[in-house]
Amino acid sequence: MRYLLISDIHSNLAALEAVFADAPADLPIWCLGDLVGYGPNPNECIELLREKDVKCVIGNHDWATIDQTSLEDFNTEAKAAVLWTQAQLKSENLAYLRKLPISLVEGEYTLVHGSPRKPVWEYILHPTAASLNFAYFNTTYCLVGHTHIPVIFRLDQADGQARCQVEQLVEPGIYFLGDQRAIINPGSVGQPRDGDARASYAILDTETNTLDYRRISYDLIKTQTLMHQAKLPGRLIARLSYGW
Ligand code: ZN
Repeated sequence: MRYLLISDIHSNLAALEAVFADAPADLPIWCLGDLVGYGPNPNECIELLREKDVKCVIGNHDWATIDQTSLEDFNTEAKAAVLWTQAQLKSENLAYLRKLPISLVEGEYTLVHGSPRKPVWEYILHPTAASLNFAYFNTTYCLVGHTHIPVIFRLDQADGQARCQVEQLVEPGIYFLGDQRAIINPGSVGQPRDGDARASYAILDTETNTLDYRRISYDLIKTQTLMHQAKLPGRLIARLSYGW
């Protein structure tokens, strides 16, 4: 079975549409949260995901948008984008965000936005944080987003110690997952932060046990123009050009 893995769309409709145009049609879709925040098309992104019947967990920006977390935890630009998003969202799309679960288990995969230990907020950026998190899920694999950086952390317990090997996903291509437990991040569709401005996503094949990691260009100028028109913070507009 193959699944389309997407995360951190952040209201970037041009990027989301480019991913759907590039990916094989009709794959079941798993989304790792942060549908909204930062970008100019929160309603359109949610409506596209609703239409495609995506299985989705909630992210910290989605949480803030439905008033489940304090805006104190956000920087100035992120906070401004959350407030703008709240003012834009139609009631049915807010209701959709309110119904999103914090975690999902699908076969051998646990889906969360941040980490299994703190599903909405923890960033798994380093092997130490990854190692500690293997005790907090029961499946072989855990799929996360939140950092916007594509990576695989594999658990290595050869000497009885829980340590992680890190495989940063730089070159698009097929990555074998192997038998080891792993935490996998497919990167961000709508606001990549690994120095590559292209939208990031992956296709998981549970039969061959592989991850097809992909990067694709999208109409960046379209998203940036809409952000200008919406008077969203300039720094959020600029960062899309550079992938930071
Ligand atoms: Zn995010």
